[in-house]
Amino acid sequence: MGVRELGAIDMEPWQIGIIGGIIGGLSVVVYAFMLPQRKCPDCGEPLPRSRKPTNKRQAMWGGWTCSKCGCEVDRKGKKVV
Ligand SMILES: [Zn+2]
Repeated sequence: MGVRELGAIDMEPWQIGIIGGIIGGLSVVVYAFMLPQRKCPDCGEPLPRSRKPTNKRQAMWGGWTCSKCGCEVDRKGKKVV
C-alpha cells in the first residue's frame, strides 16, 4: 500500500495554482465584508461601503459625506471640520 492510497491528494501544479487563486480571491472578498461599517459621528447614519467621492479630498484620501446630515467623515470615521 503506497502513501498516495492513504488519502494524499495528487494534484497537478496548475490545479494547485487555480485553487490558490480562488482562495486568494475569496479571502479578499471576506476581508472586505469583515471590515466594520462606519457610521456618521454626528447622527449615527451608517455610511455606505461603496462611496462616491464628492470632492477632491475624498477622491484622494477617502471618506464620506453623510447622506442624512451632510457632514464630512474621513476614512477613519472621524468628522472633518
Ligand atoms: Zn450624519
